[in-house]
Amino acid sequence: MILIQGKGASTGVAIGPLYFYQRAKATIDRYEVADTDAEWQRFKDAQQKAIDQLGELAEKARAEAGDEAALLFETHQMMAEDLDFEETIQGLITENKLNAEAAVTDTAAQFAEMFAAMDDSYMQARAADVKDVSGRILAILTGAVQGGIDSPVPVILAADDLAPSETVQLDKSKILGFVTEGGSGSSHTAILARTMGIPAIIGVGDQLKKEYVGREVIVDGATGVVTVDADADIKVRMLKKQEEIKKRQELLNQLKGKENVTKDGQKVRVFCNIGNPEDVSKVLENDGGGIGLFRSEFLYLGCDDYPTEDYQFEAYKKVLSDMGGKEVVIRTLDIGADKQIEYFNLPKEENPALGNRALRICLNRPEIFKTQLRALYRASAYGKLCIMFPMVTSVWEVREAKKVCEQVKKELTKEGLPFADDVQVGIMIETPAAAVISDRLAREVDFFSCGTNDLTQYTLACDRQNNDLGRFFDPHHPAVLRLLKMVADNAHKNGIWVGICGELGADLALTETFLSIGIDELSVSPRSVLPLRQKIRETTVSVVREKVLRDLMSDETSL
Ligand code: PEP
Ligand code: MG
Repeated sequence: MILIQGKGASTGVAIGPLYFYQRAKATIDRYEVADTDAEWQRFKDAQQKAIDQLGELAEKARAEAGDEAALLFETHQMMAEDLDFEETIQGLITENKLNAEAAVTDTAAQFAEMFAAMDDSYMQARAADVKDVSGRILAILTGAVQGGIDSPVPVILAADDLAPSETVQLDKSKILGFVTEGGSGSSHTAILARTMGIPAIIGVGDQLKKEYVGREVIVDGATGVVTVDADADIKVRMLKKQEEIKKRQELLNQLKGKENVTKDGQKVRVFCNIGNPEDVSKVLENDGGGIGLFRSEFLYLGCDDYPTEDYQFEAYKKVLSDMGGKEVVIRTLDIGADKQIEYFNLPKEENPALGNRALRICLNRPEIFKTQLRALYRASAYGKLCIMFPMVTSVWEVREAKKVCEQVKKELTKEGLPFADDVQVGIMIETPAAAVISDRLAREVDFFSCGTNDLTQYTLACDRQNNDLGRFFDPHHPAVLRLLKMVADNAHKNGIWVGICGELGADLALTETFLSIGIDELSVSPRSVLPLRQKIRETTVSVVREKVLRDLMSDETSL
């Protein structure tokens, strides 16, 4: 038996075979083939497999987000069987005796260059499609697995680290638990694991060896311990723990349908954070009162090219209609920093967390922003939509973003496309600048939602991605909590509501604090809704408020 200590990032116990995440090979071998017919057949087989995979992806997209969503994969399917593309590859294999991988690579480069040189912007964008389709065929030819998991049974997925773009594309039905060498608890991969309710352990370093692949592993997300080939008694203990978690969940289930109200009658809304339309089922299952944060960038991360207005419209419409009229806060694109997307072609930055990200990208590239806002406003006809801008630091940014909203509404009216006239527009408070000028910002918007992950990072000058910073990344730091109080006070003075959508919202050690400072909404991972409801229902705010506020502002507070 081998015990490995990491850091728990998502609670729960998972037991299953260990599997290492596979990435597509970066290097392509180039050699002369003797049997060109066999090589051509090898290409044809890979091409067919790619076409089949794309067909499956199109069906999955259709089921989850409608016909428009399926279109991208269908276009890629057509590209994979394009005759010119195929004939060029055939020529390189049969006449130049080139191996299939090199023939596909050269043909892809030639076609991508040809598309990129065209005048028409639609055709230029096809260059990315060619690269994508070729990448899929190459991954099949080289044996690298697209999508990362090639196992008939669900597995404990191990990786050095997982980028959000990789995590979002994984087949979740194949994952029992995550273990990563690096990573940090407030990274987006950890957040995604919590949203999906999958146990996860990060920061195990090099203790997890490739030779453990296929062996039974137990992941205990609460203690951060990974056990390989557990002794019989440990396994029994872990199975018992799994059973206890199930029983506790059954008890919590009794809170479904009950109000989020303290013993002395203070109500707070408990909403959920989601990353894609499929997560709505977990929100409903856990009785979330609404969606307080839909991280829309995960839609972009799941695509190989800019998602079209119609693709986005279908996805937002699905979330809004599935939520049946409950409030849904959709955050506009928040990429940059750890959420990098290749097709955005953003220049490399020295300090990406302080760089071109989120609303900054949207204001600098209004065509992208407008496409998303058009999709959002069109979807607003199907539910109760709130639009939220991330990474705000100044009043002018909010005014400029709201101007684009007005333009979009004018356009839709002209085109006769319906949209709701009561869409709330709010901002995230996740920079110290926004918190400090929240009195001014509150006059511009309908609500605030505090992003405590970034607010902690920027207030404490402490990289949220860096696991080594450990105790320095302290979201309980009085500087963070005092900023939250300041934001709540400024929101209420101006008659708007204020929520928390960062991970801190689910921290039960702070529920009394949040209730005491008057937070109106807490948005948490679906799994955290019922434990939070329980905590709220056990609290009497009038009893704890004075002490909580005194401690918060006290000179004695441990700084
Ligand atoms: C936050 O910063 O707290 C937040 C909710 O946004 P994200 O974690 O996606 O940066
Ligand atoms: Mg943030």
